[in-house]
Amino acid sequence: MDRHALHIQGREAEAGAGASGYLTIDLAALRRNYQKLSAAVAPATVAAVVKADAYGLGAQQVSKALHAQGCRQFFVAHLAEAIELRSLLPNDTQIAVLNGLQPGAEITCAKANIVPVLNSLEQFRRWSFTAQKLGRVLPTVLQFDTGMSRLGVPLQERTALAAVLKDCRSIEILFIMSHLACADEVDNKQNADQLAEMRLIAAEFADLDVCFANSGGVFLGRDYHGALSRPGIALYGGAPIAGRPNPIEPVVRLDVAVIQTRTVPAGTRVGYGGAHVTSAETRLATIAAGYADGLPRSLSDRGAVFFDGVRLPIVGRVSMDSITVDITALPEGTLSLGSLVEVLGPHQTLEDVAEAAGTISYEILTGLGRRYERRYR
Ligand SMILES: *Cc1c(COP(=O)(O)O)cnc(C)c1O
Repeated sequence: MDRHALHIQGREAEAGAGASGYLTIDLAALRRNYQKLSAAVAPATVAAVVKADAYGLGAQQVSKALHAQGCRQFFVAHLAEAIELRSLLPNDTQIAVLNGLQPGAEITCAKANIVPVLNSLEQFRRWSFTAQKLGRVLPTVLQFDTGMSRLGVPLQERTALAAVLKDCRSIEILFIMSHLACADEVDNKQNADQLAEMRLIAAEFADLDVCFANSGGVFLGRDYHGALSRPGIALYGGAPIAGRPNPIEPVVRLDVAVIQTRTVPAGTRVGYGGAHVTSAETRLATIAAGYADGLPRSLSDRGAVFFDGVRLPIVGRVSMDSITVDITALPEGTLSLGSLVEVLGPHQTLEDVAEAAGTISYEILTGLGRRYERRYR
C-alpha cells in the first residue's frame, strides 16, 4: 500500500463512530520492512524486537505478521511479555528476554520454553543449576557488555565465565550478543570501539554465533551484522540513522478528530495558563488527543498537525485530552466536527513529531495511548 492509499484509508475512518482518534498500523509495510532488513543483512538473519507491545503497535498482531514473513526469533524485555507471546507463536519460534533472568523466575522461564538473555555469571549459574535440576539442556543468549554499562556480562567476569562454560553441558548458547549505544550515529567512534570489543569476545568464545546489530547497526555495514540482527524501530518505520533519509517505510498513521472550532479576535488567550495569546483574528480547532494519548506536553506552542497537506500549528499548551490548533491557513468551512487531522502520516513523520517534542521517535511510538481505535491493514 502506498502512502496515498494509507492516507485515504485513514480519512475513511471519519465514517466510524465512537473513537475520536485512529491509529492505523500497516502490517504489509511492516512485513516489507522486515524483508528489506533481511535483504540488508543476508546471509545473516533478522530477529524482531517486539518489547513494549511491539513499540506500542500491538505485539500480538506484529509478531504474527512477522512470523508469516518468516521471522523465527523474537526479543522482548520482560518475562511476562515473553509468556504472553509464547501462547501466540508456534513452537518453531524462539522468544528471548533481554532484561535477563530474575531470581525466582528460572522454572517459569524453562517450563514456558522461553530463552533468557543471561547478563552475568550469576545468572548463568542459576540457569545451569535449573537445567541440571530439570534434567534438560536449556537454551540461552549470552549478553556481554561492550561499553554501554547497562546490561550484559561485565569485562571482569569474562574469564571466569569462559572457564565455567568449558565444563558446562547443560546450557546451549544460541548466540552471544551485545548492544550498540550509538548505532544511530554513523560517525560515532563508540561503534568501532564496541565492534572491536565484540570481536575479542567472539574470539574468546569461539564457534558461537554473534547477535549484535539493532536497527542502526544494520546500516553500519557488514562488520556489524553477525549471524543475527535485532532491529526494533526500523521494523516500525522509524529512521534507523539520525539525520539520514529514512530507507524504511512508514507503518503508523495517526488521525485525530476535530471536536470544536471557533474564531477568536486578536489578543485572545488560548489554553491552560493563558500561555498563548493570539496576535490577530484566528480560527482555532480543538482536536481529541492530548498528553494522555502520547502527544507530549513539550509540543505546546511547538508542534503541528496537518490537513490536506496544510500545516496547522499547535497553539497554547497541550491538555490531557485535547490540543488546540490554528486552522487559519485553511479556507473557512474546510474543517468541521469529526474531520480528521493528520498527526502522523505522509506529511509528518515520527521523527518530525519527536523533534518538535524534544525527544526521539521511540518515545513517541511507545507512548501512543490506548484510547485510539486501532486499525490493522
Ligand atoms: C530495544 C533493543 C533493540 C532494538 O533497538 P532498535 O534501536 O529499536 O532497533 C535491540 N537490542 C536491545 C538489547 C534492545 O534493548
